Amino acid sequence: MSDCIFCKIVEGAIPSTKLFEDDLAIAILDINPITFGHSLYIAKEHYPTLLNVPEGELGDIIKNLQKVVSALLKATGCEGFNIIQNNTRCAGQLVPHLHFHLIPRRSGDPIRFNWQIQPYQKEESQKLAEDIKKQLTK
Ligand code: 5GP
Ligand code: ZN
Repeated sequence: MSDCIFCKIVEGAIPSTKLFEDDLAIAILDINPITFGHSLYIAKEHYPTLLNVPEGELGDIIKNLQKVVSALLKATGCEGFNIIQNNTRCAGQLVPHLHFHLIPRRSGDPIRFNWQIQPYQKEESQKLAEDIKKQLTK
């Protein structure tokens, strides 16, 4: 994709602080980190979202994700981490090219995710579970 910023980073046409590379993915430092060490694990192929990855190939793309996170935690001295993966604009995705945010965390840091609980109505959860299971068997 000629106008995709992450394709350009993968090709080396735009500079990045590269941490890792294998056949299918790279990891770089995010240019606007929300914590010290906030990084991106990016598929080399231009898949707009996770659902565009051909069935069965996601595991290969993230084969080295665990290894990169582990190195990131050791290097930053962090105890924990969040992995966030946005898909489509309504979910906060600004760059439509498959990537995972790797966000190192430490006790007492100021990061707060604004999760507001929306409880199910009576029997709503059961109906929802049935609908999802139906979709899974299609
Ligand atoms: P999204 O909202 O799509 O999940 O996240 C895109 C991320 O890419 C953002 O955290 C943003 O800071 C990062 N980003 C955007 N452009 C660049 C760039 O040119 N270089 C790097 N290293 N990160 C970028
Ligand atoms: Zn791309």
